[in-house]
Amino acid sequence: MASYIVRGIAANKNIRVFVAITTDMVEKARRIHNTLPVATAALGRTITAASIMGYMLKGEKDKLTLQIMGANEIKSIVAVSDSTGNVKGYISNPNVKLAFNEKGKLDVGGAIGKNGKLRVIKDLGLKEPYIGQSNLISGEIAEDIAAYYMYSEQQPSVVSLGVLIDVDGSVKASGGFIIQPLPEVKEEILVQLEEAVKDIPPISSMVDEGMSGEDIIRKILKGFDVEIVDRTKVDFKCDCDSEKIEKALVSLGESELKSIIEEDEKAEIVCHFCNTRYNFNKDELIDLLNRAKS
Ligand SMILES: [Zn+2]
Repeated sequence: MASYIVRGIAANKNIRVFVAITTDMVEKARRIHNTLPVATAALGRTITAASIMGYMLKGEKDKLTLQIMGANEIKSIVAVSDSTGNVKGYISNPNVKLAFNEKGKLDVGGAIGKNGKLRVIKDLGLKEPYIGQSNLISGEIAEDIAAYYMYSEQQPSVVSLGVLIDVDGSVKASGGFIIQPLPEVKEEILVQLEEAVKDIPPISSMVDEGMSGEDIIRKILKGFDVEIVDRTKVDFKCDCDSEKIEKALVSLGESELKSIIEEDEKAEIVCHFCNTRYNFNKDELIDLLNRAKS
């Protein structure tokens, strides 16, 4: 089943909520990057969050980059999304091997470490992109994103992300949600929200049980008057193509291209996001060199 995001509002539009069901999308990312379970969970949580955060952007051409800079085995996870919720991403160490944590869960927090940083870059079509950064709280990603929203955007948020891995290493269930009350919301609504989200089951179990995004919204906002606003398909999608790679090579400049031609006589460029390989032979490189000259 295709991955999707459901958007809802509650408490007279005082609360907005986004639930993403991303089992397919995260499995696609796992296959592309050949990740082992801890990395699958870490990358899956990150792209699920980025997909929702991108979907939250208002402008059609807006883009969002979510970067996790880890302090342990996982040094870097990058996810780029847009306002359609489509996302691409990669992880620096797809083969990280770590034991389970004391709760018997994949130790994403241990693999990323607490002393890292989280960065959000929003390209809203303005001269300069918006860049926000915060310290990681646990390395478990959901808490870290909630902390980012609080400290960097002064936006209280409830964030949950979860990836369940099957015995064969594939993705069994994956999803996430972000709940955000309006900044000027009444205290009693915040109290009711805290109460509602206290005992909700892990998002990955709810997805695994076959609950839909709409079901999950009603469950996590129990007691609220909930309105489902829309539902949209999302996917892991890379936007690289040979034209973009050629442009990047041309932008290396004359001397750099010359030395590649003299030393290697060919070039292989691999897209970090989707692992597509682009090969250039000597003649093609000479063409690019001529373009760099003009
Ligand atoms: Zn690509």
